[in-house]
Amino acid sequence: MKTKTRFAPSPTGYMHIGSLRTALFNYLYAKQNDGDFLLRIEDTDRSRLVPGAEENMIEILNKMGLNPDGKIEKQSDRLKKYNKAAEKLIKEKKAYYCFCSSERLDELRKGQQANKQVPKYDRHCCDLSEEDIDKKLKEDENHVIRFKIPDNEIIKAEDMVYGKISVKSEDLDDLVILKSDGYPTYHLANILDDHEMKVTHVIRGEEWLPSLPKHILLYRAFDYDLPTFVHLPLLLNPDKSKLSKRQGDVAVEDFLAKGYLKEVLINYVAMLGWNPGDDREIFSLEELIKEFSIANINKAGAVFDINKLNWYNSEYVRQIIENKDDSYKTLLNTTAEFLTNFKDRPEDVLKLFGSRVEYLAQLDEMTAFLHKLPRYETEELVFKKSDLNKTKQGMKLAYDKLETTKDKDWEKEFLHTTLENLVNNSDFSPGDIFWPLRIAVSGLQKSPSPAEIMDFLGKEESLNRIKQALDKLG
Ligand code: GLU
Repeated sequence: MKTKTRFAPSPTGYMHIGSLRTALFNYLYAKQNDGDFLLRIEDTDRSRLVPGAEENMIEILNKMGLNPDGKIEKQSDRLKKYNKAAEKLIKEKKAYYCFCSSERLDELRKGQQANKQVPKYDRHCCDLSEEDIDKKLKEDENHVIRFKIPDNEIIKAEDMVYGKISVKSEDLDDLVILKSDGYPTYHLANILDDHEMKVTHVIRGEEWLPSLPKHILLYRAFDYDLPTFVHLPLLLNPDKSKLSKRQGDVAVEDFLAKGYLKEVLINYVAMLGWNPGDDREIFSLEELIKEFSIANINKAGAVFDINKLNWYNSEYVRQIIENKDDSYKTLLNTTAEFLTNFKDRPEDVLKLFGSRVEYLAQLDEMTAFLHKLPRYETEELVFKKSDLNKTKQGMKLAYDKLETTKDKDWEKEFLHTTLENLVNNSDFSPGDIFWPLRIAVSGLQKSPSPAEIMDFLGKEESLNRIKQALDKLG
């Protein structure tokens, strides 16, 4: 049997880190087994639809290289099937019409809560006579269809990550499978579609585990074979609370917009709840397809740690710069997109900041001082162990030396050695030369070394900036 997995998002919002992980694990498992990775849009909750969310999900999947196979299914296109299936269950007395008003249900719930009972539908409509039902339907009375949970049974389910689960049927509520607007609930649509799409492995977030026993009953009611169930551990904040879904914090699109590489997002998200069985941390999508295994998914919640993600991103950037392989060109292009001032010099920008940047959007601010020298106070030029006079003399010495440096030698190694020699062959300390030079060329107390900055700025601009500092020193 061909392996088929599916990613089944509800288009109720943006694609977040959690949905990306679900999509990725489904993709990896399918590809590892020469199977299909299917996409199904679960748009039956009409009140929660967000315009554009569906398109956004598809676009991000494609951007991340997780292209779905076959036709993209959409539940709103399949309403007839769900209605027919619900009616079939009614005929077989496995489901029933429920005409209870929301007011009655509210009252019921409140009463049960007051009596410290678990809220549960009281089967008020379960035994209505055929005539009553016909009459109400003819009068177009508002109704839903409820699935009848069998009495006195222990329902057993098995999950590949969480193991065996069993639930007493009396603890389950007669769930609504068809709503009053004619749309199915998630449970009904999900079961029918997974069956029809021949899904072999249902891989989804742990929040759906409590629904599994109800799903098992639905599979049985339709006489469908069960797929294999794989629930993925919860994602947590570093303080172990449930991962916030605030858009700015976890939206995949926002991470891409900040200049996190898509390979990094894939790699990091893969490690949220899965491990390769050893301490390797860097994996390409191809490597993940080979290495992924359901057996190595953890039950314990996985912490989404932005610092770790930043580490991954800086590590990838560093390696791409070092290896200069195929991804180098892409990195240069992406870098250019994030720059306002040095769009034409991404390579130089990366030379200067490639080993320091966490995500590419930081580069614009990091390079601002190169475009325009920030204002600084004269005292800042004086190192704490130096004085005004020594600083002035040290800077003058450096200026004269740098002025004689040939254009072709104007690069960081040469400049650095030149400055070092100045210090070694004079009575000046690094604080009299390197410190004021750094302030002079960057206006900043913390920056790359003066030689690196001067390399980027070129001879003319560097000397200009040093001259300005000398003028300040009077
Ligand atoms: N539509 C559900 C969601 O967005 C899918 C759950 C499932 O994969 O069965 O979480």
